[in-house]
Amino acid sequence: MEACVRNRDHPAHRPDVRVATAAAIDIGGTKIAAAIVARDGLVGDVRVVATDAVNGATEVLSRSIGLLRSVIAESDVPKPSAIGIASGGWFEQSTGRVVVATDLLPRWSGLDLRSEFERAIGLPAVVLNDVHSMGIAEGRLGAGSGRHVCLSVAVGTGIGGAITVDGRLFEGAHGMAGALGHIPFRTEGARCSCGRRGCVEAYASGPAIAASFAKCARRRDSHVVLLDVVNAMISSEEPMRECARRATAAAGAALGRVLGGVANTIDPDVIVLGGGAALALGDVFTEAVRSAAADCVIQPISASVVTAHLGTAAGVVGAGLVALDALATREPTKIVS
Ligand SMILES: [Zn+2]
Repeated sequence: MEACVRNRDHPAHRPDVRVATAAAIDIGGTKIAAAIVARDGLVGDVRVVATDAVNGATEVLSRSIGLLRSVIAESDVPKPSAIGIASGGWFEQSTGRVVVATDLLPRWSGLDLRSEFERAIGLPAVVLNDVHSMGIAEGRLGAGSGRHVCLSVAVGTGIGGAITVDGRLFEGAHGMAGALGHIPFRTEGARCSCGRRGCVEAYASGPAIAASFAKCARRRDSHVVLLDVVNAMISSEEPMRECARRATAAAGAALGRVLGGVANTIDPDVIVLGGGAALALGDVFTEAVRSAAADCVIQPISASVVTAHLGTAAGVVGAGLVALDALATREPTKIVS
């Protein structure tokens, strides 16, 4: 059976994109967030549920669609005209299929994410990488707003990046531009999540910082998580504070060196530092990144490092903005159900 969505079949009946809204969702390894998004940002609250990734891809997809349905049902006029989906991993641009999944979303690879949402909800959808989504939101409405070239970096379980020019994503030849966590930092260094050795992600991601802290504090690293490092920063025990600060500063310096090199390559106006680990570690991490990046740039290139403004909502906002972009430019097509 074939169902047609009027707004996609008849351009004359497309919604006015200046007032249109999108239903946006950010599917992460630990939580799923969804909200209605307009051109100037969130409309209403962000709703969040646990991902429960251990239950498998089908269950995660079902929870995601259910959450988005409830957000749409509760939204006021104007109802959303499109769907924006941000998720960890990489997608085939022409189909919206997941081609490279993150370890945080088991069996996500191969999923036809865009079609699943279009069939279930009956609106045109776009999918994009979650860090790209964050970068678009920060570049247009957050810490990069009003800047020409913005390099956004997310430090969490992994490290990702996004380059935006006047708020538009620079995608690269395969849609993967900005994967700066896998820039080589040490020859024959620590093992990275990508399978190679020596990537900066293996030195500056949340788990890498936790492992470095555990080694200094002589604790079994399998029992130490980033929150332990954050707590140790304000511990009454001086040796714990010192280990936390040392691990955090070393990671920040590693990332800063790499970002200085990237800045020399793309000459950004601003570097926006976000992601759960970077925001939780605060000034110690940010200052280390800032200082190391400044040491590596050639004048007059700027290594102005600022923290992200939109926090954890950035992924949702960026997905909504891209869905609205597509609504304004996409050729009308049919949704097959
Ligand atoms: Zn790597």
